[in-house]
Amino acid sequence: MNVIQKQIVIIGAGPSGAGAALRLSRAGYRDILILDRFDRIGGIAGKYCHLGRPTFVRWSTGRILHGPEYADRLARKLTRAGIETRLETTVLRFLPEEKELQVVSAREGAYRVRADTVLFACGARERTRVERGWIFGQRPARVYHTLHLLELMSHSTEIPPARFHLLGSEEIAYSLAEKLGHVNGAPLLIDHEESPGCSLFSRLYFFRKGQPRRIPAVREIRIQGQQGMEGIVLKNASSESIPADNLILTGNLIPNTELLATASIPFSAETRQILPEALKKLQGQGIFITGNMQGSTSGGERAYLSGFMTAARIMNYLKSNREPGQSVDLDQG
Ligand SMILES: Cc1cc2nc3c(=O)[nH]c(=O)nc-3n(C[C@H](O)[C@H](O)[C@H](O)COP(=O)(O)OP(=O)(O)OC[C@H]3O[C@@H](n4cnc5c(N)ncnc54)[C@H](O)[C@@H]3O)c2cc1C
Repeated sequence: MNVIQKQIVIIGAGPSGAGAALRLSRAGYRDILILDRFDRIGGIAGKYCHLGRPTFVRWSTGRILHGPEYADRLARKLTRAGIETRLETTVLRFLPEEKELQVVSAREGAYRVRADTVLFACGARERTRVERGWIFGQRPARVYHTLHLLELMSHSTEIPPARFHLLGSEEIAYSLAEKLGHVNGAPLLIDHEESPGCSLFSRLYFFRKGQPRRIPAVREIRIQGQQGMEGIVLKNASSESIPADNLILTGNLIPNTELLATASIPFSAETRQILPEALKKLQGQGIFITGNMQGSTSGGERAYLSGFMTAARIMNYLKSNREPGQSVDLDQG
């Protein structure tokens, strides 16, 4: 199996991976490789194709962009900086002692990559309420997870006019309610909890654009319909029955730490965050984690900044671990 040696390898070409790569490149580091299993640069932002609503806020300029617009910006910056990016390339396994990645790609087949430092920028994914078990009844057509809905919308230009209801009240639910509300009128948020999972700060941001109605403290729901979604029965103080055409099961974001688990690196079963002592040990070995994979799930621009900050730590590591006698490139920070 082929082995490639690099100074810096980054797993994930989302906002955080791109932010780190660009800062390292500006500081003069040239031997950088980014690997990503998606077929385009931009991570989750690249998936927001046709929801008709710009949601990626560039705090630095006060501009709000569509996800793919934001993703294309990152792609242009990486190309201009001449940073090597291999797409449709999945990292299957990580060996921390050797800092080696086992990789598979449709074009190049299976190979290994070794690096002086490895940056994990693998993002986060949605863990839905289904995994927490208070949803009963059928799973007929038109019951989606957020990402399924995004995928579906990426093949059509419009959301059909229909009654959408969302389960959950975390940031994703409010963000999606805002996008759907733009097209179909504010959807209903059905919640297991007494108080919303989304922070007050984020809710204030979304409320400026229309406030969705939230039904709190629902003990359980029963989905009705054989072929397609017909309604929802709520078990709460009033035991309402609600007509619905579409139900979206939203959740909270949990970091994609499974790849690190292949190396038996310990993480919390609940939050999926790497345990702090393990994280510290990894950093000492030249292995870093950034963006939403750290568990601090936030918007695209914050993830970009997180990558930018982590790049400084990588530079410090590379400087302090230079072999004796190794030449110093003044360009490199
Ligand atoms: C459903 C959903 C909706 C969201 N909506 C918004 C929104 O409207 N606005 C907003 O600002 N933010 C939104 N976010 C937050 C969004 O995740 C962040 O804004 C940003 O994309 C995080 O950047 P990141 O680089 O940390 O991770 P990501 O963007 O998730 O990028 C991670 C990258 O790592 C790659 N990767 C992971 N594992 C591997 C592997 N083993 N091998 C190779 N590649 C790998 C993935 O393919 C991906 O490209 C949403 C997130 C989700 C999940």
